[in-house]
Amino acid sequence: MGDQHNRGEKKEIKTQKTYLAMAAIFGGATGGSMSSMIKKAAHQLSEDETPDPELKGKYEGNCNRTACQRPGAVWYNHSTREHYCSSCASTLNKVNRADAMRMFGHDLCTIVEK
Ligand SMILES: [Zn+2]
Repeated sequence: MGDQHNRGEKKEIKTQKTYLAMAAIFGGATGGSMSSMIKKAAHQLSEDETPDPELKGKYEGNCNRTACQRPGAVWYNHSTREHYCSSCASTLNKVNRADAMRMFGHDLCTIVEK
């Protein structure tokens, strides 16, 4: 019982120390640091407007076509092995139907079911 009590006390001290350290960080985040925080937030905001390159061509990410990059890429292109939105996939399928049928025995792009 006593052992458990001591452990609890130690934890409390540690938490308080963490709080003080945090307060020091946040307290110091005024002036110069604050404006850099705002700049960082603004930068993140502008990044949201452009498609994330990490998501390009990924399943349920953004369309692999650079000019498109719409979200919801669930069509798998068997040639590029990347994912495309339904609009680009249907265009690719139309254009490459003959070749795709010869190469894969099915459309170039097929929808990926979950
Ligand atoms: Zn697309």
